[in-house]
Amino acid sequence: MNQSDEYPPQPLPKGVEPIPGEPFRFHVASRSRPGAKWLVDVEANFCACESHQFRTAPKLQRGEPVVRCWHLQQARDFFLDTLIRLWTQNEQKEKRTR
Ligand SMILES: [Zn+2]
Repeated sequence: MNQSDEYPPQPLPKGVEPIPGEPFRFHVASRSRPGAKWLVDVEANFCACESHQFRTAPKLQRGEPVVRCWHLQQARDFFLDTLIRLWTQNEQKEKRTR
């Protein structure tokens, strides 16, 4: 399977850019600073933004429940949308080969 099959041609939600070859990592556009983007890792529960560094990360370390920053939420939505699409495509392929 090549890259163009793995990601939808029009990424949803907007402002989330997949990083080629790194399925869990994304660049997510900042809402408050036009042009800025944060590195997000959905598998590691990481975002490079201030909100994550100062609010979310300390709670994660203490094992407390967290509200993920907007960037992590966007990246997780994108990741899940991509997975659902891939899953559906694979199921259709399997049906055709049966
Ligand atoms: Zn963030």
